[in-house]
Amino acid sequence: MAKVMAVNAGSSSLKFKLYEMPEEKVLCSGNAERIGWEDAIFGIKWGDQSEKTVLPILDHARAVELVVQALIDKGIIKSMDEIIAVGHRIVQGGKYFSHSELFNKDTEDKIESLIPLAPLHNKAHLVGFRAFKKILPNVTSVAVFDTAFHQTMEPQDYVYPIPYEYTKKYDCRRYGAHGTSHNYLAQKATAYFGGKNPKIISCHIGSGASITAIKDGKCVATSMGLTPLGGIMMGTRTGDIDPSVMNYLCKCTGLSVEEMYQIFNKKSGLLGVSEVSNDSRDIAKACEEGNELALLADKLFIRRVADFIGQYFVRLGGADMIIFSAGIGENSSEFREKIVDEIAPALHVEIDKELNKTIHGKECLISTPNSAMKIAVIPTDEEVMIARDAYSFYLKDNK
Ligand code: AMP
Repeated sequence: MAKVMAVNAGSSSLKFKLYEMPEEKVLCSGNAERIGWEDAIFGIKWGDQSEKTVLPILDHARAVELVVQALIDKGIIKSMDEIIAVGHRIVQGGKYFSHSELFNKDTEDKIESLIPLAPLHNKAHLVGFRAFKKILPNVTSVAVFDTAFHQTMEPQDYVYPIPYEYTKKYDCRRYGAHGTSHNYLAQKATAYFGGKNPKIISCHIGSGASITAIKDGKCVATSMGLTPLGGIMMGTRTGDIDPSVMNYLCKCTGLSVEEMYQIFNKKSGLLGVSEVSNDSRDIAKACEEGNELALLADKLFIRRVADFIGQYFVRLGGADMIIFSAGIGENSSEFREKIVDEIAPALHVEIDKELNKTIHGKECLISTPNSAMKIAVIPTDEEVMIARDAYSFYLKDNK
């Protein structure tokens, strides 16, 4: 039986999901959090059971040992040989990777060379890969890149108007992110168009948020930039702002560029404007209570998302479908309704408001037959894409 593990290793966490392939049946999922601490947390869900334990997990290698041990102890697998492939999420693939790749020395070296473009992420991904390699040395290991889907953009969509020397010398350009999610959503969307590829505006709106314009199943434009700080406003991130804000605020506050960069990443967005929270549920509650800054943050957020939808409508020469996905897109019917209200006068879209109110975390077409574009809620599933790619490399490897 073919079991494939999808792994997302962060700097202090390791998320995993085990699939039976090719059925794509989820056998278990879990997370090791606070890796590096004496009071780390190991959680696993399988069948209708779940377990959470607080224990020391001092490094990623220990976390992987716990994962494998738990799989055997819970009877999810009988032996480690059942795991035939591991797919690893890699945030930054730079200019090198336009699709997933088998892990080898060259892949590892390239991911390592991209650490300056995603310092926290790529380093952690390599630590996670090496920890799995130690315990499962002979399985097919595959790197699945968040940026790969966006490699089809044309230069006029990814080059920044900076001296071209910097673009060339330092690979300073737009790479985008959430590519695996947007690719999954684009594939799902074909079901609404008799298997054909529609023109899509895909909105992955969670604590990190990005919007992608997709044509013929390929990305033509995406909102995140060199790093996931760019694009629309997010939970704690600014999204696009005038670059001179950095210079001006550093002068005003006396903070360094690095300190201000941290503020742009971790203390801005919904949190920064509202002074309440980065979580849209808290913002909604504060709005109900009449909190003025929460109301401003909410309006700003809606405006920024709507503006990108308008931009990509033009970029695509008209669109067939708008998709809402990720934490906010899948769960917040208020958010979806506000976006549709904002874009409807220009784009002539309409949703069934009563139906929309009932949709939380499940797939549904919420537009009415009168709407100029279809509007769908589609829960994203990056892990299954990772498992699919890992499994297809395994099949190629074992022909
Ligand atoms: P993600 O990064 O995709 O996991 O999304 C996380 C974010 O989704 C949270 O920070 C919340 O802002 C938002 N979210 C999650 N559940 C809900 C919900 N039921 N209603 C509104 N927003 C939600």
